[in-house]
Amino acid sequence: MCGKPFGEGSFRDILIGEDPLCESCRSGWIRRRRKFDIEGIPAEGTYLYEEHFSSCLIQFKECCDEALKDVFLFEEKKRLQRKYRGCTICLMPSSAEKEKERGFHHLRLMYACTGLPMLEPFVRLSDTVQKKRTGKERRKMEGEIVLKDGIILPEKILLCDDVITTGATIRGALKAIGKGNHKIRIYSVSLHKSWYL
Ligand SMILES: [Zn+2]
Repeated sequence: MCGKPFGEGSFRDILIGEDPLCESCRSGWIRRRRKFDIEGIPAEGTYLYEEHFSSCLIQFKECCDEALKDVFLFEEKKRLQRKYRGCTICLMPSSAEKEKERGFHHLRLMYACTGLPMLEPFVRLSDTVQKKRTGKERRKMEGEIVLKDGIILPEKILLCDDVITTGATIRGALKAIGKGNHKIRIYSVSLHKSWYL
């Protein structure tokens, strides 16, 4: 993340050495696990979304720095593997345009280290679709999330995102899933400070 040669900053990096993030970068992150619920569905997150975490996320997402893919879940992957065994990770959609620019779905890279099965069942209704609608309809549908055609959802679903801000995306996904017999859980690597109040 910082570009310093590994081990230059601390002995811990040489001795433990498995964390792809160096100690000084890691120490900037605020690890504060939090459980809550969204629409009655159990949710949890690990890091407070603040400037150190967000700059790392931006470097990964917007600068396409794929080398950072394993830093986000390094401290949680084993616990997540155990806790959510049997679940299928369902990734939150990014806008299709962004993904095309980037050439990859950043969440897929981020969550690959958990070893859990993964699905991208959602699409966010794109601007191109919305342009065909009237102004009023468009506003109503803005950012609406729907299931992809022909998707069959697994029984146990773990909705995953990189950051939960207002929770609107998660609520959109829950709405898209609708009522059924799914067992749903929510996990996000980071949470906006409002979830800690
Ligand atoms: Zn560093």
